[in-house]
Amino acid sequence: MESLREVVGRITEAERGDQALNAFLSLADDFEAPMSPAGSLQGVPVAIKDNIATHGLPTTCGSRALEGYYSPFEATVVRRLRAAGASIVGKTNLDEFGMGSSTENSAFGATLNPHDRGRVPGGSSGGSAAAVAAGYVTMALGSDTGGSVRQPAALCGVVGVKPTYGRVSRYGLVAFASSLDQIGTFGRTVLDAARLLEVVSGYDPRDATSVARPTPPFAEAVADGVEGLVVGVPEEYLPESLDPAVRERVDAALEGLRRAGADIRSVSLPHTDLAIPCYYVLAPAEASSNLARFDGVRYGVRETGSDVQEMYEATRSRTLGHEVKRRIMLGTYVLSAGYYDEYYGAAQRARELIRADFRQLFSSGVDVLFTPTTPTPAFALGARTADPVEMYHSDVFTVTANLAGIPALSVPIGRVDGLPVGGQVLAPWWEEARMIAVAGTVERALQGAAR
Ligand code: GLN
Repeated sequence: MESLREVVGRITEAERGDQALNAFLSLADDFEAPMSPAGSLQGVPVAIKDNIATHGLPTTCGSRALEGYYSPFEATVVRRLRAAGASIVGKTNLDEFGMGSSTENSAFGATLNPHDRGRVPGGSSGGSAAAVAAGYVTMALGSDTGGSVRQPAALCGVVGVKPTYGRVSRYGLVAFASSLDQIGTFGRTVLDAARLLEVVSGYDPRDATSVARPTPPFAEAVADGVEGLVVGVPEEYLPESLDPAVRERVDAALEGLRRAGADIRSVSLPHTDLAIPCYYVLAPAEASSNLARFDGVRYGVRETGSDVQEMYEATRSRTLGHEVKRRIMLGTYVLSAGYYDEYYGAAQRARELIRADFRQLFSSGVDVLFTPTTPTPAFALGARTADPVEMYHSDVFTVTANLAGIPALSVPIGRVDGLPVGGQVLAPWWEEARMIAVAGTVERALQGAAR
C-alpha cells in the first residue's frame, strides 16, 4: 500500500502538470503514522472537503474570508477517520461555503471534471468527487445541503452518499443551512462509499442534531439482494423534457433491478415542483444567519476600517464572493418583518408537503425510490454562471431528500456522450442499508457499462 507521503507526492505531481484538476486546496505535509494501525481504513487515502475542520490543515470553505484559517478543533468525522487508521491526504475544493453546483464559485478557482477538462465536476463538493474519480484518493468526505455530494458524484462517475439527517455528526462542519446540512461520503464503488459511511456514522454528544441510533454494517449491505423489494419510480423525476439518453440509462438500471427480483412501480410525489423554490428560500434564510459570524472579529480575515461598522462592511464586502452575498441578501430579505410569513413561512409549509409525499409513499409499501441524479451530464465550464436560476435547477432531483431528511445516494449508471450519469436511490429515514443494497445491485447489473 502507498504511504501517505507517496500519495501526496503523486497528487502534487499530477496537479502540477497541464492536466491539473485543481481538486485540492491543501495537501498533508505531516507524514506521521496514523493513530490506529488496526482500524478498518488502515492506510486508506481519504480527502476532506474544505468546510470540515481538520487539525494541521487550513479550513477555508473556498472563501477569501477564511484564507489561511486553521480551526482550533477537529471535526468528529475526521477524528473517527484517524481512529480507523485512514490517511488524511488533504482538503478539497468547493463552491464558497458550499453554495453552488459546479465548484466555479470557489475563491481559489474552479475544479475541472477529470472526464473532460472543459466541463464542471458538479458541486459544491466538486474537489472531493474529482479527487476520487481521478484516482487521487480512494474515498472522500463532502457535505450535502441540497445535493452537493450526489450531484458531483453523478457528474464525475463515482458513488456519493447523503445519509439520513442526524446519522453523521456535523461537529466541525462549517454550517451553511443547518436544517439541511449532512456530511456525506464518496467512493469509486458502492462498497467504498459504504465503508467510509460506516466509519463516520454514529451518535456524537457534541452535535445537538445527532441521533443515537446504532450504525448498521453498511459495507455488508452492498452484497444484499433486492428480491421482492418495491422500487418506486416517481413520474415527476422523469419529465417529458428529460434527455432521452439519460432516461435510457435510468431504464437500464431499472431493468437490472427487475432482473434481480425487485418490483418496479411508477409512483408520484406530487409536490416535487415546490422543491426548488422552497429550498432556495430556506437555504439562503439559514445561510444569512449562519454566515453572520464571518464578521472579521471571530474568524479569519479582517479588513481595516475607521470604526467597527466600517471594519465589518469592509471585511464582508471584500472577502465574500458574489453568490454568497446573493444568498445573504436573499435570506435576509425573506426573513425580514413583513415578508417572513409570505416567504419563509410559505417555504416551511411547502417543506412539510414534500416530506409528507415521501412519508405517504414509504408507508404504502414502497421500499425505495429510483430517479436520475441530475437531468444532464456535466455541463461546460461557464455555461450556467450567468444565470443563477439555471444553476439552481442543476439540483431539481436532489434537494427533496434534504428537505425531507431522508438518505439518498448516487451510483453511476453509464455514459451519455462519453460523460458519466448517475442514478439516485432514495430510502426511508434510517434505511441506508437498504439503499446501499439497491445501489450495489445496480452497480453489479451494469458493471462495465457504468464506468
Ligand atoms: N447547489 C445547492 C446550493 O447551491 C446545494 C449545495 C449543497 O448541497 N451544499 O445551495
